[in-house]
Amino acid sequence: MDLFEHQAKELFAEYGIPVPTGKIAYTPEEARTIAAEFPGRVVVKAQVKTGGRGKAGGVKVADDASDAFGRATGILGMDIKGHTVHKVLIEEASAIAEEYYFSFLLDRANRTFLAICSAAGGVDIEEVAATTPEKVAKVAIDPLAGVDRSRAREIAEQGGLPAAALDGAADLIEKLWAVFVDEDATLVEVNPLILTQDGRVIALDGKVTLDENAAFRQVEHEAYQDKAAEDPLEARAKEKDLNYVKLDGSVGIIGNGAGLVMSTLDVVAYAGESFGGVRPANFLDIGGGASAEVMANGLEIVLSDESVKSVFVNVFGGITSCDAVANGIVSAFRLLAERGEQVTRPLVVRLDGNNATLGRQILADAGLSGVEQVDTMDDAARRAAELAAVGA
Ligand code: GDP
Ligand code: MN
Repeated sequence: MDLFEHQAKELFAEYGIPVPTGKIAYTPEEARTIAAEFPGRVVVKAQVKTGGRGKAGGVKVADDASDAFGRATGILGMDIKGHTVHKVLIEEASAIAEEYYFSFLLDRANRTFLAICSAAGGVDIEEVAATTPEKVAKVAIDPLAGVDRSRAREIAEQGGLPAAALDGAADLIEKLWAVFVDEDATLVEVNPLILTQDGRVIALDGKVTLDENAAFRQVEHEAYQDKAAEDPLEARAKEKDLNYVKLDGSVGIIGNGAGLVMSTLDVVAYAGESFGGVRPANFLDIGGGASAEVMANGLEIVLSDESVKSVFVNVFGGITSCDAVANGIVSAFRLLAERGEQVTRPLVVRLDGNNATLGRQILADAGLSGVEQVDTMDDAARRAAELAAVGA
């Protein structure tokens, strides 16, 4: 999960990392009120989870409160690389002497943590690394040794930071390592890290990516979730602990096992080409132990997507055998009926693997209306795509 710049900076501040003081505004009026609280100039910064805001015109210095009102009017509602700006950060303007780059990240390819530091900051670091790699220091970090003050200073020196910035940078880098470790981040990036004209080193921008696999021990991170930007179906699926991703097609997909569901998406998209480009409507992995309740919850989520015209339930019986899944589907229909939701769209079910014959028999005997069984994955995908095309 990525944080907004203002969230990253709030987190930095908790660790004693110097950041400019600022507040969030959702309207130009709020921007004006906040700007009036600052004695001097302010910066109006678009809060979107993408870089290059400055280049896109999403970062503007304002001379006073009424100027901030005007700048915020221009920036709010702006589209930056497909992200709409809903809020702006109003911050005291900094007098910049120099701009540097710093980040800690998880270097998966080399199976290590990495510090990246450069005196050539403020700009696209990938470009600097491509054209003048000697200006970018990449320092592997031993996770057990970590980063203390002297190590932090070494990194800053390797990045080519001038003597005047070394103490401040070392302090900031050491604290940034604490953020990286204690918050279970996979990236903390400061670009630019600046030296101000009065000699302070501060984080002028902030990007933090949190490792969602650590959510169980980072309970407070839940507060960072951007409910507004979340797909409502995905949010409901998350509440029910379902592994669901909304896509833009019309064939609802339910399968057991992430690998099987992934290949189901491919097979449906391929079959759909024969029916005018029918595509899968979602990814949903109900996992190994598909109980009736999980199946019912899954069906409910998939069917509450209005663009779904048919549903393909693709199950390969393994630890959970097909008879259990078939019973799950039968009970799911009953459960849904009890919740007042009738399954009105056609369901194509393919059961294979452990106890497939018994599973198919159970489903056939139940005589659920709208449910068809097809024995192979390819044929079932084709049938589901056809039904979606007819229903559309
Ligand atoms: P990004 O373009 O999305 O990375 O947004 P940044 O927060 O990095 O801002 C882009 C650029 O705007 C920075 O590199 C600075 O040059 C400039 N900028 C941001 N804040 C200030 C400020 O307080 N004062 C001045 N003079 N420039 C700023
Ligand atoms: Mn930046």
